[in-house]
This record gives sequence, C-alpha cells and structure tokens, in this order.
Amino acid sequence: MLKKLTRFYYPKTIEEACLHLGNREQKTALIAGGTSEVLRNDNNVEALVDLTKVKELCYIRHDSAYIHIGAGTPVQDIYKSKDLKGPSGELLKAAAGKIGSTLLRNSITAAGNLAGLFPWSDLPPVYMVLGAEVVCRKGKPKRTVPVQRFIDTRASQFLAEAEIIAEIMVPIYGKGTGVHFAKFAKTSNDYAMISLAIRLTQKSGRIEQARIAVNAITATPTRCLEAEKVLEGQKGNAELFAEAAKKAASSLTIRRDIRASNDYRKEVLEVMIRRGLQEAFDKAGK
Ligand SMILES: Cc1cc2nc3c(=O)[nH]c(=O)nc-3n(C[C@H](O)[C@H](O)[C@H](O)COP(=O)(O)OP(=O)(O)OC[C@H]3O[C@@H](n4cnc5c(N)ncnc54)[C@H](O)[C@@H]3O)c2cc1C
Repeated sequence: MLKKLTRFYYPKTIEEACLHLGNREQKTALIAGGTSEVLRNDNNVEALVDLTKVKELCYIRHDSAYIHIGAGTPVQDIYKSKDLKGPSGELLKAAAGKIGSTLLRNSITAAGNLAGLFPWSDLPPVYMVLGAEVVCRKGKPKRTVPVQRFIDTRASQFLAEAEIIAEIMVPIYGKGTGVHFAKFAKTSNDYAMISLAIRLTQKSGRIEQARIAVNAITATPTRCLEAEKVLEGQKGNAELFAEAAKKAASSLTIRRDIRASNDYRKEVLEVMIRRGLQEAFDKAGK
C-alpha cells in the first residue's frame, strides 16, 4: 500500500531518473511496468519514479557478440521481435511469449522481470543459461555484472542508491548450440509451477557445455549444477539425459506450491528436463 505517496515522476532520461532516485529528502522507489506494484510491502514510499517515458531504455540491438536489450523493453517486444535470431534469440522469444497474457506482456519489462525476482519470473533462468550480463547505470557511470552475481545478491541489495539496470546483454551463440524453454502451469496465463531453460553446446555428439536453470519450483532462479556436471564431456544420448534429469530433480530444494505437491512437481520436472535436453541436443547437432 502506498499510503504516503504524494509524488509521481516521469523522467525522460536515465540521468534524470537517477537524480530523482538519489533525492534523500523523500523516500523514493522505482517502477517500470508497474505490474508488481501491488506486492510492494513498503508503506513509507513518498515518491515513485516511473521509467516508461525513458525512451533510451527501450530497444533491442545486436553487435557481433551480443544482443542488447534495453531495461525498459516490454517483454511483448522481445516475443514479437523479428530481429531476434539464433539460439539466444530463440530462447528469449520462447520464454517472453509464455509470460502472462498479451496485456501483461505489454507492460512487463526485460529488467523488471529480473529485478523483481519472483519465483514465477520466466526470464531469469533464460538470462542465466545464456550467461547474460546486466548493465547498471548511476547517471552516466556504468558497470556490467554477470547475471548470476546479480541474482545471488538480489537487486535490492546489489544496486547502489540511485542506480538502475539500463540493459541486459545476451551473448550470441552460433552453430553447435541448442536451446529449450518450457513452462509448466495450470493454464497458459497462470504463474509457472516450473520454468525451465536449457542451453547445450555439442561437437561431434559430445557435450562441451551444458546449462540448465529453473525457477518457480525453487524459491529463486537456480542453476542445476550437478546435472550440468553429469552432461559435460559426455556423448549425448537418452540414458545420459535421463541420468542428468534425475540428478537435477533430486538435488534441488523444492518450494511449496498450493497447486501441486512437491513430489508431483519433482516428477514433472524430471520429465521436462529429460525431454528438454534431448531437444536441445538435437537442435545443437543440426
Ligand atoms: C496477473 C499477473 C501475472 C503474471 N504472470 C507472469 C508470468 O507468467 N511470468 C512472469 O515471468 N511474470 C509474470 N508476471 C510479472 C511478474 O510477476 C512481475 O510483476 C514483473 O516481472 C515485474 O516487471 P515490471 O516491468 O512490471 O516491473 P515493476 O513491477 O515495475 O518493478 C518490479 C521491481 O523491479 C524494479 N525495477 C524495475 N525496473 C528496474 C530497472 N530498470 N532497474 C532497477 N530496478 C528495476 C522495481 O523497482 C521493482 O522493485 C505477472 C504479473 C501479474 C500481475
């Protein structure tokens, strides 16, 4: 509840937004898509800084190594982008398209989905398996950090006063890489019970790099490190994928979910990972 809210700012630039956030005379908070505002549990916020009019935060660009996504880019733009190609583009689009409804996707932003870091957020596992980097800005000065560090620390502790996420940088992967995204929920608009992202790189059938990350079934986005170890350096085949899937499901700390039991979701996860690994491996071989 925002009982003390008296000011609402619409900055037009990143520097202006950071200036408002740095104003110590009032308790200020940041919103982007605003879709999680009802969940805010800080009653003392007096001013909100809304990023929706900061046009320099809204873009999808490429260079030879990275896809650059402006923090304020609606996830619907990611889902509908015709420029997002290759394994990274495919994975980003697949996950973005599974977020909520069209109405929600028009508001939810690339960075808000990460910074909010809810258990049901679909993009963080994708950012993790793709090895994304988060560009943070405090006015003009900027720093770039691996998304894993950002997630491990949580945005509220990681970002300095008056600092915002400006961009997500996603590495581009070429031939030999296959990806997979899957979401398990009761309906297509429902929050995930399981969100799963996979990236595999293979050469002549041998898995060189495996990245598996989940959310929703865990309290925070989590890499399945033990399963990745099972896979790396091995020739890909159905038995190996089954073993890795079993390892992943048994090594995670499962979050309680009123919609289905832990055992049931664990079993579903194992099947999802096994099938996802096979699909990513097959794609990597094409
Ligand atoms: C009914 C409903 C269904 C949903 N379903 C899904 C779903 O299926 N999958 C899914 O992934 N999400 C879903 N969401 C969205 C998710 O729960 C969050 O609301 C959303 O990810 C937040 O993004 P936002 O852009 O609206 O950020 P906001 O709500 O505006 O902000 C969220 C947090 O991020 C911070 N923040 C935002 N932008 C920045 C920035 N640039 N720099 C630093 N901090 C920033 C804010 O300060 C705030 O703390 C759903 C939401 C609703 C309401």
